[in-house]
Amino acid sequence: MTTPPEDGYHRKIDYLRLSITDRCNLRCVYCMPPEGVPNLQHDDILRYEEILRIVRLAVAIGISKVRVTGGEPLVRKGAVQLIRDIAQTPGISSLSMTTNGLLLGPRVAALYASGLRRINVSLDTLKPEKYQAITGCDGFARVWQGLIEAHRVGLQPIKLNAVVMKGTNDDEIEDLAALTIRYPFHVRFIEFMPFRIDQQRTRFLSSDQVLDRLRAMGPLTPVTSLNSNGPAQHFQLPGALGKIGIISPMSHHFCLTCNRLRITAEGNLRTCLFASEETDLRTPLRSGASDAELIRVIRQAIAHKPEKHALDQVITRKCISRPMSAIGG
Ligand code: SAM
Ligand code: SF4
Repeated sequence: MTTPPEDGYHRKIDYLRLSITDRCNLRCVYCMPPEGVPNLQHDDILRYEEILRIVRLAVAIGISKVRVTGGEPLVRKGAVQLIRDIAQTPGISSLSMTTNGLLLGPRVAALYASGLRRINVSLDTLKPEKYQAITGCDGFARVWQGLIEAHRVGLQPIKLNAVVMKGTNDDEIEDLAALTIRYPFHVRFIEFMPFRIDQQRTRFLSSDQVLDRLRAMGPLTPVTSLNSNGPAQHFQLPGALGKIGIISPMSHHFCLTCNRLRITAEGNLRTCLFASEETDLRTPLRSGASDAELIRVIRQAIAHKPEKHALDQVITRKCISRPMSAIGG
């Protein structure tokens, strides 16, 4: 296996998050305005063969972990076949997907058969009415059924992502954490990031505040052997089958160990979630660039990966006006 490339700060970059669509069947309050955002034109979105070429080139330079995301990846036609093609790319050591889970139930067996083993499902509440208020869709039961089905077919780990918002779902921190007692799920509490200028920062609840609440439930054992170099800190409640993850992009950012690259649905390479600059890969891809030329562009972007984000100071910059659905969360 090729050694992963290093950026200008000696971080090894071995992880690629691929947004395969900017479209989504939900309108989560923390991610999109209620009216949605303008969709990319069909021709502007990378075709599957272009995505697969990027994956092969990424593997050639030493990237071995891929996460497929969006928008909502499962709304794109042929997503299962794409998963199969990525899974079969020699050199991929880990393939995962982040989904809102709404379309998961009917597709999860095919996803498993295609080689997907790891999945993250966004679920911010266990109350159907609140689910509707947060996402704009009466879909809680479908997501829950998708999760149970994912567990049944053998996906592992199954991670639940909950964005914690004061006054919205902070009353459910304990209930969400308690899921880990009965199910082998990883429940991850994510700090709300105010991507949009209109988003109310008063909704923010720090992960330290979340941890205080969790500690009141019982002793939390730190877990270090998760074979993950991701940004979460992990804990376990006594006797729990699953684990609790705490992700603090705002209060304790994890830039020092960031190993990621992102490709947006239109084929822009982003080296930081909060970057104000992106590198266009689609134009060279569609104008006959050789593999060597594309690799040079990718390596150059990696070399210029920013040292850290400064979300607090840059709230008005261009990057913040792009929701996660457009960047590829
Ligand atoms: N649609 C899929 C889903 O919801 O899982 C994948 C894309 S979504 C943009 C990826 C992740 O970004 C989700 O787990 C979501 O909770 C998270 N996210 C979106 N906006 C966020 C925000 N403002 N703050 C924190 N997390 C956010
Ligand atoms: Fe919600 Fe994900 Fe869709 Fe954003 S992209 S609105 S987080 S489901």
